[in-house]
Amino acid sequence: MPARPDVDLLVLGSGVAGLSAAIRASRAGRSVSVLTKGELAWSATQYAQGGVAAALEEDVDSPALHFSDTISAGVGLCDVDAVEVLVTEGPARVRELIGLGAEFDRGSDTDLAYTREGGHSVARIVHAGGDATGAEIERALVSAVRDTAAMVLERWFALDLLVEGGRAVGVRAVDPTGTQHELRATHTILATGGAGQCFAVTTNPLLSTGDGIAMARRAGIAVADVEFMQFHPTALDHASMPRPLLSEALRGEGAVLRDDDGHAFMLAEHTLGDLAPRDVVARAIARRLNDGDLPHLWLDATLIPDFARRFPTVWRACQTVGLDPTDEWLPVAPAAHYLSGGICTDLDGATTMPGVWACGEVACSGVHGANRLASNSLLDGLVFGSRCVDAIVAGKAEAEATGVLRGVEPTSPTPPPPPTPSRGGRRASREDLQRVMTRDAGVLRDAASLTRARDALGSMQPSDREVANLLVVSRALVHAALAREESRGTHTRLDFPETDPAFLGRLVFTDAGPHFVRLPEPAATR
Ligand SMILES: Cc1cc2nc3c(=O)[nH]c(=O)nc-3n(C[C@H](O)[C@H](O)[C@H](O)COP(=O)(O)OP(=O)(O)OC[C@H]3O[C@@H](n4cnc5c(N)ncnc54)[C@H](O)[C@@H]3O)c2cc1C
Repeated sequence: MPARPDVDLLVLGSGVAGLSAAIRASRAGRSVSVLTKGELAWSATQYAQGGVAAALEEDVDSPALHFSDTISAGVGLCDVDAVEVLVTEGPARVRELIGLGAEFDRGSDTDLAYTREGGHSVARIVHAGGDATGAEIERALVSAVRDTAAMVLERWFALDLLVEGGRAVGVRAVDPTGTQHELRATHTILATGGAGQCFAVTTNPLLSTGDGIAMARRAGIAVADVEFMQFHPTALDHASMPRPLLSEALRGEGAVLRDDDGHAFMLAEHTLGDLAPRDVVARAIARRLNDGDLPHLWLDATLIPDFARRFPTVWRACQTVGLDPTDEWLPVAPAAHYLSGGICTDLDGATTMPGVWACGEVACSGVHGANRLASNSLLDGLVFGSRCVDAIVAGKAEAEATGVLRGVEPTSPTPPPPPTPSRGGRRASREDLQRVMTRDAGVLRDAASLTRARDALGSMQPSDREVANLLVVSRALVHAALAREESRGTHTRLDFPETDPAFLGRLVFTDAGPHFVRLPEPAATR
């Protein structure tokens, strides 16, 4: 007889996606455990600055406008239905978050204050504490989850899914003393965040090591779009880890990018100028850095009024390294920021393995395509975290062929055995791996650099379990980046600079190996 589950729902990760799912499930009367590898508030979520995008003001904005902005940023690879879900359900989820206690900034008349970021056609981004949106969201969610009956397991590290008869029945995890346990659950939600730590220069915290994606790959669960790592164009060029982010909202409020000669160059690159989509801005900067062999370009934010009050987080980061943004230009360079791909899900967050769900940055829900629209990711976590729970509560047993799972072959009942470690390789540290990825698989790539990266990663043996997970994700990223012989969204091939309709689709990794799933021609509007 199969062992009894310990809980209805085991949530891995305590960022916006995991905590909003845990709160919803607990309030729906389910028994829930939240397992997280650090303290409860430790997440990428708490670093988010700019805000949350949602069409909350019907007189100036609409889900249809938010839809078309999201689709055009995604360069053909968004799943149209997933984007529809995001933009129509987003406003209600943001209002629920406010109901849970998150305090967003308000204008003088007590209405919510909105800002605009790159790729958005109207000001629809709500923010908190000026540029401390993520910290406020995390604070509100941590406080709300502590008020539920959910059990919280802090400093537990999830190793791998437990799979029985083709179904996940929980995870193997290590407790804070180093002892291994099998935690059994009817449903497991992977909400373990992104993988920015694959790169040396990243805005992501040390915990963003792609653990959930690596667990999924080892269990044979489908993963896609991992070549689409979004590089934030404007991280402060300073040696701290993670790199302080100079939010796009600075450019929304009038900051201007300048080259080494002081010229504002973005209007020559895109009609939206400094507010062009992130991939366009990151490429424009990376090309100038390569051409001039420069460490950074400049962000001129000297004309932003009341800087310290409007952007307290950036202000503090600048002060820490001795810069005054009201008086001098800030050195900026692109940094790995957001993984658009991840674990393939249907419109309810179900994956190719029954019992496993994914939401937030770890997932490939289809809403970001080849390039995430700014401030859509916190919303993604809120919307799809909630949908996972609603589907579980409604009794959904397995994934449907909707969203990204259309055209993806189901996982076979028996996952492949774990790969045998390659012989002869040396133990690679996180820094070894990051060096290879930054040099050869960063903003600008070509066949020669990616082949070098593939060979270097191929001979590496990881020095610890997080490096092992980073290695799984990096190998998939490089494999997909080599296979995608075109430039699209955040994936730029110097040897294939154009977007090629032959690559309108996703490279999906399953237990049967990688395969290409073609997508229909995108519709720009609804
Ligand atoms: C500097 C910065 C600024 C950003 N600004 C914005 C913004 O303005 N707007 C926006 O929409 N997005 C922004 N983003 C992106 C956004 O913050 C993230 O995409 C989002 O918060 C991810 O949420 P998540 O819940 O999926 O994952 P995370 O918040 O990263 O949480 C992942 C959780 O999983 C846990 N975990 C991971 N592996 C394991 C394991 N093996 N075992 C147990 N636990 C594990 C981690 O400890 C963590 O608690 C920003 C990101 C950064 C880094």
